[in-house]
Amino acid sequence: MKAEIIGVGTELLLGQIANTNAQYLSGELAEIGVHVYYHTVVGDNPSRLSEAIKHAETRADLLIFTGGLGPTKDDLTKEIIADHLKREMVTDDNSWKQIQDYFMRTGRYMTANNEKQAHVIKEAKVLPNDHGMAPGMFVKEGSHFYMLLPGPPHEMKPMFRNYGRQAIIDQLEKVECIESRVLRFFNIGEAEIAEKLSDIIDAQTNPTVAPLAGDGEVTVRLTARSDSRENAISLLDEIEKPIQEKAGEYFYGYGDTSLMAELLRVLEDRELTITAAESLTGGLFQSEMTSVVGVSTMLLGGIVCYSNEAKIKLCNVKPETLEKHGAVSEQCAIELAENVRKSLDADIGISFTGAAGPDSLEGHPAGTVWIGMSFKDEGSKAVLVKMAGTRNGNRRRSVKMGCYYLLK
Ligand code: ATP
Ligand code: MG
Repeated sequence: MKAEIIGVGTELLLGQIANTNAQYLSGELAEIGVHVYYHTVVGDNPSRLSEAIKHAETRADLLIFTGGLGPTKDDLTKEIIADHLKREMVTDDNSWKQIQDYFMRTGRYMTANNEKQAHVIKEAKVLPNDHGMAPGMFVKEGSHFYMLLPGPPHEMKPMFRNYGRQAIIDQLEKVECIESRVLRFFNIGEAEIAEKLSDIIDAQTNPTVAPLAGDGEVTVRLTARSDSRENAISLLDEIEKPIQEKAGEYFYGYGDTSLMAELLRVLEDRELTITAAESLTGGLFQSEMTSVVGVSTMLLGGIVCYSNEAKIKLCNVKPETLEKHGAVSEQCAIELAENVRKSLDADIGISFTGAAGPDSLEGHPAGTVWIGMSFKDEGSKAVLVKMAGTRNGNRRRSVKMGCYYLLK
């Protein structure tokens, strides 16, 4: 199956936003074996959009549109496609109910154009929008398929992942089953993991093995095709084994997880409580932790101790420690972690102290961070981390490093 992705929106042509939707969809389609031959971008203009549709039909089986499903005048993607396919628009009851519910719940005034968002092309398969109001659509007409997705990436991605992807897979011939698995690694670079896995990557055909770096982490996506789900999964199991043998020490989880989510899962399983004393991270560790629902049984609270005075007065760090070793030191990190743990009688105390940057601190270059860890029954220790990012990059990475070392 050949596909063309058509981004609709004048803001794309004006350079106000980048076409990240096309990038995302291309990756997803490659994985299920759909070949994307063209990316098209067209403004919110009826005649040029019609032209783009006609042109795409000459060279693709599947046309995927993003943008222009909203309530405003310039949102005209579905009307133009309906017109092109000579189909009527009908109200989708579920979507209409969802829109009304939203306005009722939020007490906001609903303008007449909002009903327009519940209009769908007749006989289209409706793709629910779990993060917004405008539903997506999947339409078959002759030998062509048309998928309409909303513009905002936070609506488009889950709609595609949860509904659109499968709708396309259902239309694919021959390959009955495609399964993917994402392995997440931390504390190893993309180049390093690619080198470790080079034999496997070079020999790949089915499953495919695709490393991808981002946000200080590396993911490796495995995708297998076979005649049944079981066979595809056993192909994935088979290829995962040598990958884990070569890079398993950096592996921390599957799929959509994060280091923080994995840490919380372990704390919950073992019924452990945690607290933190944070200097350079300024509460970021606790902020990330509290962003997860149900954390209250694990996180007791903690302290932001940015200045030396706060380290002494709030965390009982000995003034001699700071005089002799400084704040960017193993000793300080250990005292912080130990004292904050004891003061709340928690199972685990973690601390972050170091030079976020851009300037050096106490003669230590930016990115030098000590992470202290104190465990109720196993004593305390600290690890030294050296980073070379921006100030906030170093702060975020410190938090991830903290989770990573606690997981170890
Ligand atoms: P809305 O209901 O928000 O109006 P829509 O489906 O009508 O959504 P548009 O109005 O075309 O979509 O775009 C809304 C926003 O979505 C844009 O301002 C932009 O932030 C984002 N967006 C649209 N198209 C893309 C794209 N191709 N890549 C990345 N972001 C996009
Ligand atoms: Mg819009």
